[in-house]
Amino acid sequence: MLPADYHMHTPLCRHAVGEPVEYAQRAVELGLSEIGFSDHSPMPRDDFDNWRMRFDQLDEYVTKVRLAQKTFPQLTIRLALEVDFLPGQETWIRQLAALHPWDYFIGSVHYVSESWDIDNPAKISEWKKRDAFEVWQVYFDRLTLAAESKLFEIIGHADLPKKFGIRPAQDCKPLYEKFLTAAAKADVAIELNTAGLRKDCKEIYPSRELLEIAFQKNVPITFGSDAHAPGEVGLNFAEAIQLAREVGYKKCRQFEKRKAIAVKFPS
Ligand code: ZN
Ligand code: FE
Ligand code: FE
Ligand code: ZN
Repeated sequence: MLPADYHMHTPLCRHAVGEPVEYAQRAVELGLSEIGFSDHSPMPRDDFDNWRMRFDQLDEYVTKVRLAQKTFPQLTIRLALEVDFLPGQETWIRQLAALHPWDYFIGSVHYVSESWDIDNPAKISEWKKRDAFEVWQVYFDRLTLAAESKLFEIIGHADLPKKFGIRPAQDCKPLYEKFLTAAAKADVAIELNTAGLRKDCKEIYPSRELLEIAFQKNVPITFGSDAHAPGEVGLNFAEAIQLAREVGYKKCRQFEKRKAIAVKFPS
């Protein structure tokens, strides 16, 4: 039995394909017992960027997930969001939280400023204008704030800045330490996100180095494919399970109505 796939998207974010029922169908084919939809959450302003649902589509999103739940009663399907953490948006995130009976929120940092989403392929040239270590520092400062905010059950793709394979020469361990100390204190999980294997970095988010520190500090984990198409559901979960096992993890977390459940995952 595979662990729950807690990170998948829908076409409402404008860069994913396949309806939630199709992702659920794929999960059933793979023998998954639990999945969760975590599409990109709306921003206070709908014109903030072009890769998320609009606020007036939030109810439609919930309806699509409910349809998948009704279609596949044998599969537990959680209702969630991947919420962008930008400092100053805490009130907005609390407002979103109050609108539906969410099972969990993934807090992700994609923006290191109001205008630069570091994983956006259209803005890859920005990386050449900046010092990589400075970007990583700002990113992990924000990720630490996200963990401390207690707004999220899971922190998404913890070392996202490696996506395009651009890595600082400096030792990033102190950045990981600071973030993971905050995550442990706030009792927030990090995810093993297999999408990194499909990017230039060719590595699960997070790295073994970061995950080893997480294990030492008792930071819980979840698993996610970050599927943007039905065929990506549960992709490379064998590698993610192996990594988690090798580092020492035997349990992962699942969530119901924002309450954590500890479950053993298979070897
Ligand atoms: Zn996406
Ligand atoms: Fe993300
Ligand atoms: Fe995602
Ligand atoms: Zn993501």
